[in-house]
Amino acid sequence: MFRKILIANRGEIALRIIWACRELGIKTVAVHSTADTDSLHVKFADEEVCIGPPRNDESYLNVSAVISAAEITDAEAVHPGYGFLAENAHFAEVCRECGLTFIGPSPDVIRNMGDKAAARRAMVAAGVPTVPGSEGTLDSVEQAAEIAETIGYPLLIKATAGGGGRGMRIVLEPDDLVRQYEAASGEAGAAFGVPDVYLEKLVLEPRHIEFQVIGDAQGNVVHLFERECSIQRRHQKLLEECPSTALDDDLRGRMAEAALTAARAVNYVNAGTVEFLLDKSGDFYFIEMNTRIQVEHPVTEMVTGIDLIKEQIRIAAGEPLSFTQSDVKMSGHAIECRVNAEDPDTFRPSPGQISTFHPPGGPGIRLDTACYAEAVVPPYYDSMIAKLVARGNTRGEAILRMRRALDSFVVEGVRTNIPLQQRIVSEEDFVRGRISTAFMERFLESPVGSGKG
Ligand code: ADP
Ligand code: ADP
Ligand code: MG
Repeated sequence: MFRKILIANRGEIALRIIWACRELGIKTVAVHSTADTDSLHVKFADEEVCIGPPRNDESYLNVSAVISAAEITDAEAVHPGYGFLAENAHFAEVCRECGLTFIGPSPDVIRNMGDKAAARRAMVAAGVPTVPGSEGTLDSVEQAAEIAETIGYPLLIKATAGGGGRGMRIVLEPDDLVRQYEAASGEAGAAFGVPDVYLEKLVLEPRHIEFQVIGDAQGNVVHLFERECSIQRRHQKLLEECPSTALDDDLRGRMAEAALTAARAVNYVNAGTVEFLLDKSGDFYFIEMNTRIQVEHPVTEMVTGIDLIKEQIRIAAGEPLSFTQSDVKMSGHAIECRVNAEDPDTFRPSPGQISTFHPPGGPGIRLDTACYAEAVVPPYYDSMIAKLVARGNTRGEAILRMRRALDSFVVEGVRTNIPLQQRIVSEEDFVRGRISTAFMERFLESPVGSGKG
């Protein structure tokens, strides 16, 4: 097992990884920008290295600074968390060349799955159902128009290097195609450095259902059931839960099998997520695979009792999975609300200094956060400041626990979306499990959802 791990991240996920290392008896190194000197991940790590100024590209995305920090502190492995360098194949390669273990899949797998058009092709070849679309990236708008005719409208133009809910454009009718194609590839080039785009049929009011998978270097691959992430705003997840109210045992079994086929097709090692859309007729389609730990992994941990971060570390150290498929059982129901420092009405980020911070607790509640009273939420990074997770024996109990936890969660000094989450978990369609990725748009237009009810 490793003696010392460097954590190439910040905020709640850096802290989450520190806790896992402590339980495993592994020393930790925190890296931080000058904006994060007083951050909790820096305080709780055994060692810390400042890697640069606040801007991402000069600190948390600065490969040579992160690698130097690992060398100076004699770390043996790097945990990238999510975001930042987590899906950067070049970084994983440099780690390997420098004799550092990257806690995640191989650079080749990261590269192949990170190219979403190439990932689609690999899945078609493996026999995993994908959304009808173009075979690969598009060469020209003329080619786009031709393929669009065969798959039909409405459709979605997607950036092959896209992520974080960005780089997607809806095309409702043929007349829109040229304009959206040009906008999409321009945006993709600017945001992701790669202008390549591909086409997918727009699935109407789907549910986002993803499967957690994990594989070891010995060739064992298992799944840890699904997470439903249909509550999204602008393709970004707001609330996730496990299990999904949309799956019965038969559908769950078929989707799990497809997720395992996907993982096996690329010899997947470490934790990953296979994302699907489920349409109204019960058909499901692969959309992408995320080759890292995901923001919403706690809901899986709360219903399976498995510590995914510890398992990631053990696998990276060469150990086999500590459990088999038949050991993985779902017990109860878990819901996660992402708490963002943002104005609940305009959704604009609300950075600043937290004055009061009262975290909720009690039975069935888990709070993953790096916040505390007087902590500063810097303007430079993602606005997500906490993940509130509620577990109950039933979905109903999880919802009731989530409501009372949100009610007692006090954050002052910055604005948060706690009021929005309170409205969501009280909404009738949500309570009945009648949700889709179209839920939020409708909800925000309603008097109750917009907070004006
Ligand atoms: P999850 O599926 O785990 O919820 P998200 O899509 O919310 O993941 O992304 C997790 C984090 O990574 C977010 O901070 C998001 O902004 C960031 N992220 C993911 N992919 C990219 C990308 N291609 N470019 C920029 N940021 C990304
Ligand atoms: P990202 O890499 O940004 O996470 P995804 O491909 O996972 O992008 O898609 C993010 C979200 O966008 C999905 O959860 C879903 O809500 C929506 N989406 C993506 N593809 C489609 C599609 N073909 N039809 C309908 N919605 C889609
Ligand atoms: Mg996705």
